Amino acid sequence: MIRVALVTGGSRGIGAACCRLLAASGHAVVVNYAGNEAAAQAVVAGIAGAGGTAVAVRGDVSVEADVLRMFEAADRLGRLVALVNNAGVVDLPARVDEMSVERLTRMFSINITGSFLPAREAIRRMSTKHGGQGGGIVNLSSAAATLGAPGQYVDYAASKGAIDSFTIGLAREVAAEGIRVNAVRPGVIDTDIHASGGWPDRVAQVRDSLPMKREGTAEEVAQAITWLLSDAASYVTGAILNVSGGRG
Ligand code: NAP
Repeated sequence: MIRVALVTGGSRGIGAACCRLLAASGHAVVVNYAGNEAAAQAVVAGIAGAGGTAVAVRGDVSVEADVLRMFEAADRLGRLVALVNNAGVVDLPARVDEMSVERLTRMFSINITGSFLPAREAIRRMSTKHGGQGGGIVNLSSAAATLGAPGQYVDYAASKGAIDSFTIGLAREVAAEGIRVNAVRPGVIDTDIHASGGWPDRVAQVRDSLPMKREGTAEEVAQAITWLLSDAASYVTGAILNVSGGRG
């Protein structure tokens, strides 16, 4: 049976690096994306060019019907064994007393609900309780979960704090059902997220303050994620791994 991995937000950044590594380790990959079809198709083409299998599926992780469609695409490819809950957003730097309810709702819907819904669908397929054969889930937290990001985006930090609690609770909930659930906490990583959040110079501005005096790459984070999903991490569950170059 073909082993399938689903990566939310797989079109760019850390998610795209995960798609490439999971394909290289023999998975057929569902590359979910929100709107950037060209980026998603480029990831799919790169995997196909290297002899792998991938499909791009548009969908918003916070919309239940979209999440169901992503998993139906996975079911058509083979047996789901891995989920990377990677899609996430930040917003403009702001204090809490400046944040609109629209901002908060979007942040928590995408970053929190948008991780719960894919996890629910993955468990329905992987859990031995539901007739499945097990699998792995990795959630994307952030160093911000422990730093709090005051004056920048406490809402984002809190959404990642929720991901930490989600990871610990879910890991224990399904540990006896063949599913391992872990998280990574990236530090400052060179991706588009800083520009998308309205702070394009962030990496250059904070670089000198980082313990290793450099930002991380998407591939460095993806290497940790794919290790957590692999059999080499067979006794690791409920873990939250800092991939932050010593920050946080
Ligand atoms: P990125 O480069 O901005 O890419 C974001 C990805 O998520 C894109 O593929 C985007 O799709 C997708 N996406 C956004 N909203 C979505 C939605 N509602 N539904 C489905 N997909 C959606 O981000 P990144 O830096 O790689 O970050 C990936 C994860 O790591 C996030 O959870 C982020 O919070 C976390 N993280 C990042 C850093 C960092 O410094 N980069 C640090 C700590 C944690 P489109 O291409 O279609 O827009």
